[in-house]
Amino acid sequence: MNIVVCIKQVPDSDKVTIDRETNRLNRAGVPSIINPFDENALEMALQLKDKHGGKITVISMGPPQAEEALRTALSHGADEAILISDRKFGGADTWATSYTITLALKKLTDPVDLILFGKQAIDGDTAQVGPGVAHFYGVPMITYAKACEVTDKGFRVQQVTDHGYNVWDVEKPAALTVVKEANSLRMPSLKKKMAAKKAEIPVWGVEQLQPDETKIGLNGSPTKVNKVFAPPVKLNKEILSGEPADMVKELIFKLREKKVL
Ligand SMILES: Cc1cc2nc3c(=O)[nH]c(=O)nc-3n(C[C@H](O)[C@H](O)[C@H](O)COP(=O)(O)OP(=O)(O)OC[C@H]3O[C@@H](n4cnc5c(N)ncnc54)[C@H](O)[C@@H]3O)c2cc1C
Repeated sequence: MNIVVCIKQVPDSDKVTIDRETNRLNRAGVPSIINPFDENALEMALQLKDKHGGKITVISMGPPQAEEALRTALSHGADEAILISDRKFGGADTWATSYTITLALKKLTDPVDLILFGKQAIDGDTAQVGPGVAHFYGVPMITYAKACEVTDKGFRVQQVTDHGYNVWDVEKPAALTVVKEANSLRMPSLKKKMAAKKAEIPVWGVEQLQPDETKIGLNGSPTKVNKVFAPPVKLNKEILSGEPADMVKELIFKLREKKVL
C-alpha cells in the first residue's frame, strides 16, 4: 500500500507576529515545527503500514528549510520524502497550493492508495488544502478522520462529528484529513534519526512539475490578503450580582437583547 502524507512546516504558533506592511508572517528567528495535525496523519500512516506493509512518502511544499520537517518525518518512520520548492511557488493561496501539490502526486511513479493530511494548518488555518488536492487529483475526501482501517476495496473511516462519529466506506484511492483524537506520533528511533540526516530529499520545482504558470504562486492565486488586523477590543464590561440562578437569567436576557444568543 502506498500512502502519501502531506506535511506543512509551520511557525511555533504562539511566537509568531504579522508584518503590518506586507500582511505576511514574520518567520525570521521563529522556531518551526511540523504542523501538529500532520503528526497525527503521519502516525495514522505508520499504523497502517505496521499492519499492512507498504511505503510512506511525505511531501511538503515550502521554502528550502521545510526540508527539516521532512527529515523529522523520516526519523519517525516515513520511507521517502519530497520537497516541493521554487521561488515561483511562493505566496500561493490554498487553491494554488492544492494545485501544485497535486502535480507532485501525479508525478509519483507508484500509484497512490491513500493521501493523508492534517485537519488544518495552525498558521493558515483554512483546512482547505486537503479537500483542494482531493478535488484536483479526483479522489473522494473524508475530513475529520479519527480512525482508518483497510477493507477489500479501500478503507473504512471513522469521521468525528459534533455528536459522535460517522462510519464511511470508501474505495481507494482516497484522501483523509486527520484529527488529533486519532493518535499521538511515536518517538523517532535513533537509527532512523541517523538515516534521516543522510537521506536524499529530491526538490521538485517548476522544471520538474511543469505547472501551468498562471496557476502557481502569488500571481496564480485567486485570493489576496488585503489586510490582517486584530479586531478592536471593546471594554464595555458589566458585572452582575445576586443569586447565581437570577444572574444566569439576567445574562441570558442581556445576551438575547444584544442578539448574541
Ligand atoms: C496571514 C495569512 C493569510 C492568508 N490568507 C489567505 C487567503 O486570503 N486565501 C487563501 O487561500 N489562503 C490564505 N492563507 C493561507 C496560505 O496561503 C496557506 O498557508 C497555504 O495555502 C496552506 O493553507 P493553510 O495553511 O490554510 O493549510 P490548511 O488547508 O489548513 O492545511 C490542511 C492540511 O493540508 C496540508 N498542507 C497545507 N499546506 C501544505 C504545504 N505547504 N505542504 C504540504 N502540505 C500542506 C497539511 O496536511 C495540512 O494539515 C493565508 C495564510 C496566512 C498565514
